[in-house]
Amino acid sequence: MSSLFPNYGRWPIRIVRGEGNYLYDESGKKYLDLIAGIAVTSLGNVPPKVKEKVQEQLNTLWHCSNLFEIPVQEKLAEKLVSLTCGDRAFFCNSGAEANEAAIKLARKYTQKILNEPRYEVITFTQSFHGRTLATLTATGQAKVKEGFDPLPEGFVTVPYNDSRALQDAISDKTCAIMLEMIQGEGGVNPADPEFVEQIKTLCAKHNLLLIVDEVQTGIGRTGKWFAYQHYDIEPDIITMAKGLGSGFPIGAIVGKEKLVEAFGPGSHGTTFGGNPLASSAALATLETLEEDGYVAQVHGLGVYFKEKLEALAAANPTIVKVRGKGLMIGMEMTGEVAGIIEQMRAESILMLQAGPNVLRILPPFTIKKEEIDRAVDVLENVLNRMKEPVANE
Ligand SMILES: *Cc1c(COP(=O)(O)O)cnc(C)c1O
Repeated sequence: MSSLFPNYGRWPIRIVRGEGNYLYDESGKKYLDLIAGIAVTSLGNVPPKVKEKVQEQLNTLWHCSNLFEIPVQEKLAEKLVSLTCGDRAFFCNSGAEANEAAIKLARKYTQKILNEPRYEVITFTQSFHGRTLATLTATGQAKVKEGFDPLPEGFVTVPYNDSRALQDAISDKTCAIMLEMIQGEGGVNPADPEFVEQIKTLCAKHNLLLIVDEVQTGIGRTGKWFAYQHYDIEPDIITMAKGLGSGFPIGAIVGKEKLVEAFGPGSHGTTFGGNPLASSAALATLETLEEDGYVAQVHGLGVYFKEKLEALAAANPTIVKVRGKGLMIGMEMTGEVAGIIEQMRAESILMLQAGPNVLRILPPFTIKKEEIDRAVDVLENVLNRMKEPVANE
């Protein structure tokens, strides 16, 4: 019997080691990792350059609290500001906390700086924003909210990619719109360019803040540093976490200069946020991604992977659609994908799902074309095997 709460539906694999694009279980069995810890270990498992920087930091200083100025945290903030349209950063420890901070910042800015009694945040169906009470309320999926009533006020969910419904949902209480540019947990659904254009227009017209949740899409995953950069928009607040620290827990928001007074001393905080260890892991991750040109490679690798899957789709009527950008790929099937994932796992290849019918593929950026070839070959075999009529026992 386990001493853990059974809140995760865990696979019966005991992972004990990771190296590059592979994970190893207790028995030494090796798995090709097309999950990357859910879009976290983008440089592969235990990336040497990040390891070296974190080891240096381990020898110097782990934690001192935000009572002090922390040079490595400031350097990390500078880097993130240089990679986005934002001007200021705040660090926390997870994606949910980053979204929580964004919601608080949007409300405080509207109520204290603009002096307007607006507080509502509009989010979208099939979105995922986290598991804290505020962020699960913001999440557009009923299963995440069940049993946790009463939920905090001030959130409205509108159909994704529906400009008309969005327009109708804006009221004199609305203060912000929050969205994922490609919904991750909800099925790898990209935002339509016309929808994003409409959001931009509505934000300008009603003086709303635009919050983009880049917790899964950020840090190069889609072939640009941030997925909003595929569109002609400048969010007021960008939230991030998963890929930021190569597996070291860290989250962040980056926001526009106009928000600075709303997050004055004492307004918000967290003990561990941006501590020297976490900041050094994130800074080394960003520097390695930049110096070794990974973000540019993500685009090409994504195109290569998607083309192979589309070829597979042409011969397989059970594949409905291949979606996504860069190395955030979804393959919608006519039926449930859990069985496919299980069979892939039996062949030592790890894949994820995004809802019942969508296979989700989030490889490390270090994935090689030969590894993509092999994964697609194995997937083809698995799909063919599933096509065969099952013999009666
Ligand atoms: C994973 C995820 C979150 C929550 O992040 P945690 O670190 O698990 O709290 C929020 N938003 C999106 C888009 C995510 O994919």
